[in-house]
Amino acid sequence: APNPNAVSRKNSMGVNFSNDNELKAMAEAVNAHAGPWTAEPLVPGAAAGNVTVPVTNPADRRQRVGSYVSADAATVDIALKNALAAQPGWDRLPAASRAAILEHAADLLEARRGEFIALCVREAGKNLPDAIAEIREAADFLRYYAAMARRLFGQPEQLPGPTGESNQLFLNGRGVFVSISPWNFPLAIFLGQVSAALAAGNAVIAKPAEQTSLIGHLAVKLLHEAGVPADVLQFVPGDGAVVGVALTKDPRVAGVAFTGSTDTAWAINRALAARNAPIAALIAETGGQNAMIADSSALPEQIVKDVIASAFQSAGQRCSAARVLFVQDDIADKVIAMLAGAMAELQVGDPGLLSTDLGPVIDEDALKILVDHAARMDREAKKIAEVTLDPARTEHGSFFAPRAYEIASLDVLQREIFGPVLHVIRWKANDLAGVVEQINAAGYGLTLGIHSRIDDTVDYLATHTRVGNCYVNRNQIGAVVGVQPFGGENLSGTGPKAGGPHYLLRFATERTLTINT
Ligand code: GLU
Repeated sequence: APNPNAVSRKNSMGVNFSNDNELKAMAEAVNAHAGPWTAEPLVPGAAAGNVTVPVTNPADRRQRVGSYVSADAATVDIALKNALAAQPGWDRLPAASRAAILEHAADLLEARRGEFIALCVREAGKNLPDAIAEIREAADFLRYYAAMARRLFGQPEQLPGPTGESNQLFLNGRGVFVSISPWNFPLAIFLGQVSAALAAGNAVIAKPAEQTSLIGHLAVKLLHEAGVPADVLQFVPGDGAVVGVALTKDPRVAGVAFTGSTDTAWAINRALAARNAPIAALIAETGGQNAMIADSSALPEQIVKDVIASAFQSAGQRCSAARVLFVQDDIADKVIAMLAGAMAELQVGDPGLLSTDLGPVIDEDALKILVDHAARMDREAKKIAEVTLDPARTEHGSFFAPRAYEIASLDVLQREIFGPVLHVIRWKANDLAGVVEQINAAGYGLTLGIHSRIDDTVDYLATHTRVGNCYVNRNQIGAVVGVQPFGGENLSGTGPKAGGPHYLLRFATERTLTINT
């Protein structure tokens, strides 16, 4: 039977890496945009701020990418007033009009991808394939939520009733939504959260991660140009401790879409709960302690290829990334040897070169956490491999050498390690239940990779682990909008899944209208 949830929409095409002309055109477009970029709060009626924050390239801190002006508490207050006044009009627009604006924004984004790719490389340290994937995913989110808005919000659902009574169910925006988004997907997740909230009829105040304020600014300008009114979508860059706190304690906020650490999600939840205000919706996508499980029926070459992609692509800075490989002991020595060999081939360096596998990590704070973790692992675990770095890189950029360690059990990792560090644990053939127990006991539930050609094993693992996204015999990153709706459970998030058919519903209220005719 046809899937009633299917929407007529195509995912974005990206760049064909085997076509020289396409590659050349892309490189030229990227080179044409070298900044410096500037960004300021986009809040009609607010005074110009005076705290300017420089932005430097994580691959080389001597390069200035631009600067942004921080919003202060007074600016946040004006943004909330504007949003509250503007939201009802936006909500009353036909859903198809809001959808058309988002679709127009997706077209503009693709037409101008050169500048966005350049900024993803220079401000966020993304390598070219990741930067291109970022544009595609952002365009996909815009079009997907537009299509969902047309379907869900386009007309009221007619419900049954006794003769002489008409019953209708309407979906509306909740009010003012705050988007607090991460630096690791500074365009895709930023625009995903913002466009979902807009599609559902909310006014949005967008607070980007401090590290990627310039990309957020360019994205908001694009949505304004596409037709979102300036008071319906406002932009408030700045420190989480100032801007994030001012927003989440304010009783005028009806909902928050957040992606980031589990600790910050707790803080937001507490702040929202402490308000003397209607209970707000919180959509949180948080961390993971993601495992890949391989048994001896799997192909070692495939395990290695997929675990390398899952652990090290994007320098391991994905919440979906594999942090632990559970490998059955009969094949463990072979897999570990092949893993070390494959890691030696990884190219760490200039994210602007097509040959680069891993660029820098986002900043010095992130680097320090990784360095401290590696120092602890060097003392307490067995090192499998560490990629050699060019010292010139580490002198000026936030580079961290990818590495892998063998550890005894998952308890050794006390927290999520957000970077290119893989941990390997051996398991015995009769102890699959023990593996599942370790994974569930860690308390997260985001992604799981399974490598096995035994159907019963795949079935057992997929049904006994509590994870949001399970991938079998492939890598476990890069969820595609509308194909693998993304998001976890337990400590990994609240749901509903981004890029899935239920996401917009959490941004909405439901109203019935009963008429005695
Ligand atoms: N959706 C991304 C993926 O599947 C991860 C998102 C994140 O890191 O927050 O790889």
